[in-house]
Amino acid sequence: MRVKFLIIIIAVGLLAVIGGCTSAEYQNESIMIAERTNLSLNELREFEQRTDIENVKPFELPDEEWRAMLSSSEYRVLRNHGTELPWRNEYNKVKTEGVYHCRGCHHPLFTSETKYDSGSGWPSFWAPLAKISVKTKVDKSFFMTRTEVVCASCESHLGHVFEDGPEPTGLRYCMNSAAMKLMPMSLSE
Ligand SMILES: [Zn+2]
Repeated sequence: MRVKFLIIIIAVGLLAVIGGCTSAEYQNESIMIAERTNLSLNELREFEQRTDIENVKPFELPDEEWRAMLSSSEYRVLRNHGTELPWRNEYNKVKTEGVYHCRGCHHPLFTSETKYDSGSGWPSFWAPLAKISVKTKVDKSFFMTRTEVVCASCESHLGHVFEDGPEPTGLRYCMNSAAMKLMPMSLSE
């Protein structure tokens, strides 16, 4: 009888510990996301200078959770390498001041400061926010060799980068609106 009682006590204790860990992890993740989307101007400028891409926290989810979290058009672009229609997308013509975050994991990607009208019909930027914002990969789909741009944190597809952009970089980051979420903020001191 005493042994049974002891087993129950240990089991309840273990469940409490496991439950505690899960909620603490969830809380940390929530804090991380809140920090990413509510950057102060100082934090944004610090982020802009970062080059330590190896320290970016990887954000990974099972496919069924991506499907549950994203709309069908977001999933098609971010997780299935889709491309949305030119002109008929949310941010092509938008000039609102602010930071464009990854719609998958909230990682900060671009700001309105480097956004320009490329005439392509897709939101275009001549540079990412920071060296740790995005990564590139070789994309050989559709019988072409292009440079794919993915989020540095969750590795979701964002768009492509081409070498026909304006100065000072000469680059055109051609992005999908469905892959990003604009958080409006003032970028001047
Ligand atoms: Zn992401």
